[in-house]
Amino acid sequence: MTLIVHGARKLDADGIIDDFWFAASADRITATGTGDGWRAVAASDPSAAVTDAAGGWLTPGFIDLHGHGGGGTDFDHDLDGIRTALAVHRAHGTTRSVLSLVTNPVDTLAGSLGIIADLAHADPLVLGAHLEGPFLADSHRGAHNAELLVEADAAVIATLLAAARGTLRQITLAPELPGGLDAVEAFSAAGVVVAVGHTAASFEQAQAAFDRGATLITHAFNALPGIHHRQPGPIVAAFGDERVTLELILDGVHVRPEVAALAFAAAPGRIALITDAMAATGAGDGHYELGSLDVTVTDGVARLTSGGSIAGSTLTMDVALRNAVDLVGLDPVVAVTALTLTPARVLGLDSELGLLAEGYAADAVLLDADFAVQQVWANGVAL
Ligand SMILES: [Zn+2]
Repeated sequence: MTLIVHGARKLDADGIIDDFWFAASADRITATGTGDGWRAVAASDPSAAVTDAAGGWLTPGFIDLHGHGGGGTDFDHDLDGIRTALAVHRAHGTTRSVLSLVTNPVDTLAGSLGIIADLAHADPLVLGAHLEGPFLADSHRGAHNAELLVEADAAVIATLLAAARGTLRQITLAPELPGGLDAVEAFSAAGVVVAVGHTAASFEQAQAAFDRGATLITHAFNALPGIHHRQPGPIVAAFGDERVTLELILDGVHVRPEVAALAFAAAPGRIALITDAMAATGAGDGHYELGSLDVTVTDGVARLTSGGSIAGSTLTMDVALRNAVDLVGLDPVVAVTALTLTPARVLGLDSELGLLAEGYAADAVLLDADFAVQQVWANGVAL
């Protein structure tokens, strides 16, 4: 099956090209060009599916490193719920997802990791699981249950890695806790991206975690020390370390646009926009569960019913792109890079995901002039 999209305004980390086309065979982009070159490809395969983009923006598929659910459900329970939530995000341009699990008892987490492992082995659009907990700092737990936080030890780490069967992509932990730095090293050695987050770590403690293998900051500015001129904290440590990328929730609530602009300027090419989306995404205001905690969503803002901490977002990646351009004022190339090539690089997948180029996965999003999603393809198939 050949897929052709032509007449597009290509937008990816390599820049903008007008009257762009690509052709894909099976799940890969096999050729790109400008103008009428696509016609020769179409002539050689009369069964090709051809789309005229009519000058619309065409970007790589969005890659969400951190999201919990949508459509009224989440990634913590069963396969049906996972599929329902994924469908919401795929319709908004997210073609590859890392499925985040909130803190739960270790046995429950192991069960969820097993379900996600089965799905990840069957569905290439599911990149694996993200454990947000249970090795988090109580002082910065945000919307995680204090009673379920545990110290990292080798036995628990081994249990979680075994349950995930090679599909644990990311873990958020607080490196300053007992066993924290050893956990950074153990997960890194197992090929898991380690993120510093839900942490009270100082500048120096964050640097120590990076030196032991951590390469990511979980939702920068949220649930970790901010920037103080005498206590620069983990964010400034990450700004200064080329090995480290910072997640950012750009929903206009978690981080002010002016501060987001500062982060993009301080760590060029190292900001990954995420959703951190919870069940209410695409489902409306009301009462929801986040792991074992009750959440109330009002005007699209999710907060713990008890205490009022922000409890994830109701963001989708296309809205994050619009916010990056409209609220932060970023160049569209910089904005789209933070949703595509940068998260691909964090996962070590930037040779096959994150660009509209030959050899890359046939994942693409067609958007109108205002960045509203018109059509999504993943692995060469229209979603
Ligand atoms: Zn989260």
